[in-house]
Amino acid sequence: MGSLTAWFGRIHASAKTVVIGMGITWRYMVRPKEIITIEYGSKNRAPKERYIPDRHRGIHYLESEKCIHCHICEKACPVDCIVMDGSREPFAGAWQGDGSYISRFTLDLNKCIFCNLCCEPCPKDCIHMGQEFDMSGFSRSHGVKNLLTDGPWSAADRTREAEARALIAAAEAEAKARKAAAKKGA
Ligand code: SF4
Ligand code: SF4
Repeated sequence: MGSLTAWFGRIHASAKTVVIGMGITWRYMVRPKEIITIEYGSKNRAPKERYIPDRHRGIHYLESEKCIHCHICEKACPVDCIVMDGSREPFAGAWQGDGSYISRFTLDLNKCIFCNLCCEPCPKDCIHMGQEFDMSGFSRSHGVKNLLTDGPWSAADRTREAEARALIAAAEAEAKARKAAAKKGA
């Protein structure tokens, strides 16, 4: 008798499981907006807040206008994936920071371990880990993000940066000469 009860018990448990499972399937069929599995490539059709938590450590972004070019984030990075260049002196084509002029601010996502150590010490709270997670491409160079343009670090960016280096050197030399002349005149 006991084994018969157990046998019916198992049938009951199996039937209950099927009913619960099919209930979930039918609920998602009639209310598709509740679907929680987002197929790759379809993410643009659903608002990110539906599937990315607020504290998600995604791809970085920079509020360059607040950056003081202090290099703290670069120094804090344990894998040296941030590279920046710029000056306190203005030069043509620079991105305007806060009292700074920036020619390069890149982050190599191929190396990044998404530890957030670059964002924590930023005195201006201007480098952040965002909600974006997809920066797929056909080569590893595509994984180097230009935080000034929000796109991959391109050949054109490299050329612009090389030109900026010369402009920075000239601007800094000019500023140095100006200061020396002012000191002499004082
Ligand atoms: S998240 Fe970590 S590894 Fe990535 S850039 Fe920031 S400090 Fe470097
Ligand atoms: S720590 Fe902040 S202010 Fe300093 S260089 Fe990095 S992003 Fe700019």
